[in-house]
Amino acid sequence: MGIQPQSAAGSAAVVDPIRLESLLRRLVATDSTNPPGGEASTVAVLADHLGRHGLRAETVEVLPGRPNLSVAFGSGDGPILLLNAHMDTMPVGPGWSRSPYGAIIEDGLLYGRGACDAKGGLAAMVEAVVAIAAAKVNLRGRVVLDAVIDEEAGAAGTLANVAAGRRADWAIVAEPTELAIARVGNGQLDVTLSVHGHAAHGSMPDKGRSAIADAAALVAAFEAAHARLRATPYPALGPASYNVGTIEGGLQASIVAAECRLEVDRRILPGSTIEAATAEIDALIESVRAARPGLDVTREVTLAIPPVEVPADSPVCVALAAALRALGGAAIVGGLRATSDAAWLAAADIPAVVFGPGSLVDAHRPDERVALADVELAARALVMTIVTLVG
Ligand SMILES: [Zn+2]
Repeated sequence: MGIQPQSAAGSAAVVDPIRLESLLRRLVATDSTNPPGGEASTVAVLADHLGRHGLRAETVEVLPGRPNLSVAFGSGDGPILLLNAHMDTMPVGPGWSRSPYGAIIEDGLLYGRGACDAKGGLAAMVEAVVAIAAAKVNLRGRVVLDAVIDEEAGAAGTLANVAAGRRADWAIVAEPTELAIARVGNGQLDVTLSVHGHAAHGSMPDKGRSAIADAAALVAAFEAAHARLRATPYPALGPASYNVGTIEGGLQASIVAAECRLEVDRRILPGSTIEAATAEIDALIESVRAARPGLDVTREVTLAIPPVEVPADSPVCVALAAALRALGGAAIVGGLRATSDAAWLAAADIPAVVFGPGSLVDAHRPDERVALADVELAARALVMTIVTLVG
């Protein structure tokens, strides 16, 4: 017989802070920069750690030399809680005052690439599963942990799991939310607009058609549309948005530009769709064409991530919030403007919230860090949530 925890709150005591810290230091010390995607070294650390605690991990190669890792605990045929964390990190970049792979701890903060995005959350999830397995907690369902590749560059890892038929009743996705529960998230549509004009001698611009002038009219239209979107913010998320992120065109000052290229990012609120946002962009192009007859633009979608919305009364929100409250945390239920792998799980009909230690403010920048106390609190909250939902 396994241990029956007296309560979800009591179960949080099975977390071992020393074991958790040592795993996180090992994870941050491995380089899993994406691109190129060095997750295999992280998989090796995870498989070793899990194996030493009696859990057998499965690995599946998703891209050459880049495996996903999965581990499950519980044999009941009750509900399934999926924990999903990405192993890849952003490139290091300049400006670090501490070694990006040193996993140095100062004043309770662990520094290094991936510390909060998302190895802190990954370590908390692994510790939650290891702690529950070590305490032989009886589960009526199962907890499944997916450590995935490629979240930062294309989501190949989570998409592969979904394509392979991953099923769960709920999911928690690790990203640095400052321990808030993000139940709503923006979608994202990126398009490249190629504007075609006609070259002419720079001394006779009226003999040509400037792709840059046409592109400038498009930029103004996106700015105006962005201002309109600002008027209708979504609770806990803010408004949808347009950002013209790049512009590139022309050859030199004395030639009328024949080509200009824009890259545009449209964030999409829950309740709307990729299709609606695409149609809106096409309508904006048409409105510019009405004022500039002959406007010649080709549009290409380069990224399309659907928005996410989990109801506030979903068991995964309720259980995680109750756990955080019981542990003295703030239990803020809100939204996340950045996209995450939760979108792909939600698209597969798995209600997925985003939750993890650390702050987006510290992610993707030098001296990335996470508070060890927050990683530990996350692990305890996850143990309690597992016990509540599938225990
Ligand atoms: Zn991340």
